[in-house]
Amino acid sequence: MTALDSLSLTPHAFENLGIDSQTSLADTALRLAQKSGASYADIRIGRNQDESAYAREDKLQYFNSTFSAGFGVRVLLDGSWGFAGSRIVSETEVARATAEAVENAKAARLLQTRPIELEDIPAYRDRWIMPVAQDPFTVPVEEKAAKLLGINAAALKAGADFCNSQLWIVREEKLFASSRGSSIHQSRVRIWPMFTVTAIDKQTGKFATRASLLPARQAGWEYAAAYDGEAEAALAAEQAREKLAAKSVEPGVYDVVIDPANLYLTIHESVGHSTELDRALGWEADFAGTSFVLPEMLDGLQFGSPLMTVTADRSQEGGLATIGWDDDGVRGTEAEFPIVENGIFRNYQMALGQAQLIGRHRSNGCAYANSPTAFPIQRMPNISLQPGADGTTLADLIAGVDRGVFISGSGSWSIDQQRDNFQFGGQVFWEIRNGKLGPMLRDVAYQARTVPFWNSLDGIGGRDTYELHGAFTCGKAQPIQIAPVGHGAVPARFRGISILNTERKDI
Ligand SMILES: [Zn+2]
Repeated sequence: MTALDSLSLTPHAFENLGIDSQTSLADTALRLAQKSGASYADIRIGRNQDESAYAREDKLQYFNSTFSAGFGVRVLLDGSWGFAGSRIVSETEVARATAEAVENAKAARLLQTRPIELEDIPAYRDRWIMPVAQDPFTVPVEEKAAKLLGINAAALKAGADFCNSQLWIVREEKLFASSRGSSIHQSRVRIWPMFTVTAIDKQTGKFATRASLLPARQAGWEYAAAYDGEAEAALAAEQAREKLAAKSVEPGVYDVVIDPANLYLTIHESVGHSTELDRALGWEADFAGTSFVLPEMLDGLQFGSPLMTVTADRSQEGGLATIGWDDDGVRGTEAEFPIVENGIFRNYQMALGQAQLIGRHRSNGCAYANSPTAFPIQRMPNISLQPGADGTTLADLIAGVDRGVFISGSGSWSIDQQRDNFQFGGQVFWEIRNGKLGPMLRDVAYQARTVPFWNSLDGIGGRDTYELHGAFTCGKAQPIQIAPVGHGAVPARFRGISILNTERKDI
C-alpha cells in the first residue's frame, strides 16, 4: 500500500491527484513495461466529465452529471499489442495493470500473423489546454434549464405542438506519457445545445418535425449563451407547420443543392468512414462495415470531381476533433493531410503502427480512445470539404438548376456495409425551379453510391459559405467507443441524383 492508494476512486480524490502525481504514476508504468521487455509503452491517465439536460415543453425532465476517471497502459511486446486499464488510479493498480498488459501482449503474440512495426514519433513534453471564455461546468443548473425552457416556450408560442430541447457538455482531461519520452497534458470541452419541434395536423393525425441546425462545437458556455435558440425555435415551428402542408416529393432524378448542415453527415459517412484504414484492411466491420476503398486505389481512385478536396486536420478552432496531440502522441499541427485532392484519393486515416501496412512511413494523428480505460483506435480527425476559390454563393448554385431540390439539415440516413450505397434524409427541403427556390417539399431522401455521387459534384460554395459542423457521438468498435468529429463544409451542387419519397410504400 502506498500513499497514492488513498487518492483513488472518488472524483474529489482525483481532483487532488495533481500533474506531478500523475507523472509519477506514468513513470511507474513505463518503467515496469520496459523491464518486462516491451519495446514500446504508453499510458493515458485522465478523467471525463459529462453533463446532459433534457427539457420537454415546460418541464426540465432530467439533469445528469457523470464523472469517470481511470488510466490505460499499452505495451508492444515482440510486435504484439497488450493493453489493460482501471478505474482506480493508484500506484498499486498501475503496477497490476501494467503486468496484465504485458500478459495480454504475450497472449496476443500467439495469434500474431505479422509483427506490428512502429514508426518514429518525436517526443514532446508539453501541454495543450483548450481556451474557453466560460467554463460550462461552472454555470448554474438554473441558467441551463432556463436556456432550454426558453427554447421550448418560443417554439410552442410560434405554433409547435411539442418541443424538446437538450444540452450536452463534455470535458476530457488527460496525461499521455510514452516510453519515447513524451509527457503531454491536455484538456478540452465540447458543447451541444439542440432541440426538435413537432407540429401535428389534428385532422389527419400526420406530423412533421424540424430539428435545430446549430452545430456542436468545442467551446465553452459562451457558445450556448450566444446562441439565439428562441429565434431558431420559432422559425423551426413555422417550418414544421409549413412542412406539414407541403407537397410530398415526386420521386425521380433531380439536381440537388445541399447545405453544409446536411452535407457534413454525408461527408462523415461516405468519405470519413470509407477512408479509415482499419476498415479498408477488414480489421473493423462494426457500425456499417468495412470499405470499398482498397489500398491499391491510393493515388488512383477518382473519388470525386476535380472540385472535391477533402482534408483532415486536428487544429480547426472549434472543431470537435481538434486537439494538441492525438492519443498516440502525434502532434496535431503535424497531422494535416488531404484525403481527397482535386477528386483523387490520396490518404487513409491511420493510427500508430498502421502506416507500414500500406507502404507509408508514418501515421497521421488519427488515434483516439473515448475513455482512459479504452484502447486507442483509429478515429476521424476533423474532415472537411474545402471551399471553391471563386466566391460562389448558395444562390449561384441554385441559379444553375432548372429542376431540382434544395436540402437543408441532417435527418435519418443509412449506408451499406462497404460505405458505398447510401441514402440521406434532411430537415427541410425546397423545390428548385428555373434557378429559384420554389415551395417546400416533404418526404425527401437522396440515394446514391459514394463515387458516382461525389463525381457528380459540379458546383461548390466559396470561402464565405464555409460552415463548421460535426458529429458529437460517432460510434465505432466493440465494445463501442464514441468519438467527437468535426466536419467543415460548403454548400454544393450534385447533378442527376435519385430522390426517393420516404413515405410511399409502393416503390
Ligand atoms: Zn461515424
